[in-house]
Parts: sequence; C-alpha cells; structure tokens
Amino acid sequence: MKIAMVSEHASPLAALGGVDAGGQNVHVAALSTALAERGHRVTVYTRRDDPELPHRIYVRPGLAVVHIDAGPAEHLPKDDLLPFMGAMADGLVEDWGNYPPSVVHAHFWMSGVAALDAARRYSGGGYPVPVVQTFHALGTVKRRHQGAQDTSPAERQWLEPSVGRAVDRVIATCSDELFELRALGVSGSKVSIAPCGVDLDLFRAEGPAEGRARRHRIVSVGRLVPRKGVDLVIRSLPLLGTAGLDDVELIVVGGAGTSDALDSDPEARRLLALADELGVADQVTLRGQVPRENMPALLRSADAIVCAPWYEPFGIVPLEAMACGVPVVAAAVGGLIDTVVDRATGLHVPPMNPQAIAAAVGELLHDPQLRVRLGQAGQARVRSRYSWDRVAAETEKFYQTTLNSVLNCADMPSADQDGEYLDKGYLPEGYLP
Ligand code: UDP
Repeated sequence: MKIAMVSEHASPLAALGGVDAGGQNVHVAALSTALAERGHRVTVYTRRDDPELPHRIYVRPGLAVVHIDAGPAEHLPKDDLLPFMGAMADGLVEDWGNYPPSVVHAHFWMSGVAALDAARRYSGGGYPVPVVQTFHALGTVKRRHQGAQDTSPAERQWLEPSVGRAVDRVIATCSDELFELRALGVSGSKVSIAPCGVDLDLFRAEGPAEGRARRHRIVSVGRLVPRKGVDLVIRSLPLLGTAGLDDVELIVVGGAGTSDALDSDPEARRLLALADELGVADQVTLRGQVPRENMPALLRSADAIVCAPWYEPFGIVPLEAMACGVPVVAAAVGGLIDTVVDRATGLHVPPMNPQAIAAAVGELLHDPQLRVRLGQAGQARVRSRYSWDRVAAETEKFYQTTLNSVLNCADMPSADQDGEYLDKGYLPEGYLP
C-alpha cells in the first residue's frame, strides 16, 4: 500500500521532550518505519516549522517525510495551528497529484481536518481515498481534566467529533478511548483498537545502567506539562521519608531542552519550588530532555518508574520501562489501564493521589523480589504484545478492511506501480526496497 501519514505538528524527525513533542512523534516515526519494513511505501506529511527543512526527505527505503508550507516556518504551539489546516490540505492535494496514496492515516484531530478536506478535494486517482484517524488525545477528556487551562481552540469541541464521524475508520489506542469515542457519537462499528508499541531493540533489560547518587532511585519521564503529574510524585517523597525511606532520589526527565534550559521553563520552576517548599529539593533532579539512546540506561537505573498523569491517552513510557525490566507505578487512567497489569507488571494507584504513590513506591522499595517479579513479567508482556511490527501488522489489517469496505475495487494505486515513479525521476534511486 501507499500510505499517506498526516501528522501536522508531530514530526517523526523532531527531538522529544518539549511541550508538543512526545508520544505522537514516537508513534508516527515507529509505525511508519515498521510499515515501510513490511514493504509498504509511507510518506509522512508534517508542517514545516523551520525554513531550512527540505521539502522532502527520504529517511530509509520506503519512508519519506514531506514538509508542507502551512503558516509561518517556525515552531508554533499546536493549539495555534488550526487556521493553517487549509494550507496543509492544499499541500496534501498537490503532493498526492504526483504520488497518489492508497490510504490516508491522520494523527491528531487537526490532521484529520486537513486529511478529510484534502480527500474530498483530491480526485487524481479517480477513486475515493479512505481516511483512517488516530486521535492520540481527545478534547473532551482534556477539557474534563484541564478545564479553563485547556488552550485548545474552541472549534475543537465540534470539529473533533465531526472528524470521528466523517472518517472511514478510527484506530483507538486503548479500550478507554473506545468508550469516549462512542460518547462523541462515533459508531463503535468503525472503531478498531491498536495500541502504541515500543522499540524492543533499544529498550531491553540487558545493558548498562546509570550510576545513582542515593540508595533508591525512582524516575518520571514525560513532557514537562502539569497534567503529567510530576508534582504528585514530588509530594510522595516526604511521605516516603516518614515511612523511613528518605534515601530516595527522583529523576525527572523531560522539558524543552537540556537541564540548563530549564531555568526559563515555568513548569520546571514550579516543580523545583514545590520540592523546596516540601524540604525534598536535594532528592529531586530535573534532567531536561534526554536523547532516546540514553533513555534505556536511565530507566534500568531505577527501582521503579512512576507515571502519575491526571489522564493518559496511551502512555509509551510504561512500555519502555517494562521492556527494560523495571516495574511501573501507574495511575489507573486511560491507556495505563490496558498496558500495566496491576500486581503483575506494576502497581496501579488512583489518580491524583500522592499518598497512594508513596504506598506503592514504598512497597516496591521494601521488596526487591517483588520488583524483580514485576519487572520480568512486564518484559514478557511487552515482548509478546507491543512490538512495533505487531502494531504495524494490526494497523495494516485495519487499512485493508477499510479499503475493502470503501472502495470495493482493486483499482487503486499500489506500491507495485512504483517503478513508474522511479522512471519519472520522482522517487530517488535506492528508495524502493
Ligand atoms: N521522551 C524522550 N526524551 C525526553 C522526554 C520524553 O525520549 O526527554 C520520550 C519518551 O521516552 C516516550 C515519549 O517521549 O517515548 C513520551 O511518550 P508518552 O506516550 O509517554 O507521552 P506523551 O508525550 O505522548 O504524552
């Protein structure tokens, strides 16, 4: 298949850890790579946020990234991008005129808006291009938890459900999302579930681990935004201290840049002020952005990874921890309900509850055998269920079902015709596997 991935704000080539660069970037990059490895041709369309970026980058055989001019060529918060989705659709229609897709897969609601607009306007192939949607996050859930702090454009309230109803298929990443989608009026019959995966070559239990500054170490990883609940983990430290566990360090990973850049990050300053106020500042280290290749050694150095979000559409970090054989303390919300199995691969805690976090972390720190047992079970679980190849195989099946139901014909462009594009000089030598 020729797959057009649309990911308006989350480029697969971006550095991770900033406010708008996290799981979606990982998902789009890894899924596209795994689909290309399965023999498909994947083009990822993202918004140009830097004038220096070339229009098209060939990443590996079968995988290209196209930067579309839609709004100023600079970084903009994702919540400011809606006015540019018309231009995003223009760019899609133009590129599809050269290289027709078999199926479009949009990521995040705004990409869905652009993809549906482009699919309606595009007529090049003489067939309807089916649009598959992955939301990654839902505005209704976000508003429920963030209230007035939600900076999403007002239009999201009606545009997001209408994207869900208009697309040919929705791929939800967890069972909780399925219920939310149905509440938005999206028919359950067109929703399929495929989780995110984890890079099992990079994230492994075997390999070096970072040194520690204290006897115990807990780690929290994610974009530095309030809803990730790092403050709740900091609040659990004095409670652990009262329980006799004061030789514990908390390493916080994430932020707009390296640890030096955190001085100007309001969330980093808030977290450090809180640690100071609670008398645990010497136990907390904010690392800033950590490159992916350094993440496994950091995760392996932990007794436990704590994920305490208010809500979580999926949450790749627990999978990465499990793949490294480290137990996870996770709030029982969203995707974490599916991925972390309570008392088998980690411990569930109620959301927004530092006492419960302290109790769960305390139990793990007191019991090395429990840590080993949960870590090993977590590793087995991700290896059997969450490889990107398996996720790509499921996604491919959903594309195929969608194509069959929408097109009911075998007349669509397929990767078999790509020799023609090579001959025209449209695809570079070496692009076809
Ligand atoms: N991440 C990273 N470096 C950082 C911060 C985060 O590589 O400094 C990665 C992390 O390992 C994970 C992703 O960013 O792969 C975050 O994904 P998750 O689904 O947990 O959260 P999201 O960002 O989607 O809310």
